Amino acid sequence: MSQVYQRSIKRTWTAHKNRISPTHQNSLILEPGFWEEYDPFLMLAEDWFQRGSFDVHPHRGIETVTYVMEGKLEHYDNTTSGKDELLPGDAQWMTAGRGVIHKEDPAIGETVHSLQLWVNLPSGEKMTSPRYQNLRSSEMPVRKEEGATIRIFSGSSGDVKSDTKNVVPITMVEMTVGPGVTVKQDLPGSYNGFLYVLEGEGLFGKEQTKAGERQGLWLGSAEDSELSEIAVTAVTPLRVLLYAGQPLREPVFARGPFVMNTEEQIRQAYQDYRDGKFTQ
Ligand code: FE
Repeated sequence: MSQVYQRSIKRTWTAHKNRISPTHQNSLILEPGFWEEYDPFLMLAEDWFQRGSFDVHPHRGIETVTYVMEGKLEHYDNTTSGKDELLPGDAQWMTAGRGVIHKEDPAIGETVHSLQLWVNLPSGEKMTSPRYQNLRSSEMPVRKEEGATIRIFSGSSGDVKSDTKNVVPITMVEMTVGPGVTVKQDLPGSYNGFLYVLEGEGLFGKEQTKAGERQGLWLGSAEDSELSEIAVTAVTPLRVLLYAGQPLREPVFARGPFVMNTEEQIRQAYQDYRDGKFTQ
């Protein structure tokens, strides 16, 4: 029987909300620039916004994972047949690949509260075909334990598996845990990742590190273990997200909405965008 490594928490931090405009507040949970530490993640933003906050914009070289917690979010882009809607509890897993042009806009009169994660793509997949996966709340696989519910956006939890397609293997789960209850989430030992507390207070990892609402917790490594787990105990009714994935360990060159491996590839992305090559 192989040993299951119990992960600890390497560091915790608190996210701060900033006012970007009269219709938009933002909190950068993972700030851009810490490519090695966050690998394979690039950024995580929490937003509260109304219609008109974001304009049409392109992406290349990444995936964006948008989780809508409140409000109705409309999505338009140049590669699918038109528009789509995300409701509270839904997520969209967008593989930008070689390029999409899109717009994410709250429905009229609504304030959307969302989390958007940027996942890096490996060098060999940066120019892959764009793909959208809508992860509907009503269809999402759920693992139920005594006093706890785990919604699986990607990857697996215990015996419950999501069929979300990944380029880089990612586990994304939301745990809702009752006071005094402990749940364990399994992770490959090679994964790098973090937790973000949405509601309540809990104890996390081997050392039972305490954290509450709006706090992030970076997972310690599992050293050379193949299998690992992170333990989560609720102190008060707890809702927490876990994001973990296989690091790429490749050079990152990022500018604006494009994330590539070299400066030359970034120049090419801007050139292709100007030349209309994102709109075949
Ligand atoms: Fe975008």
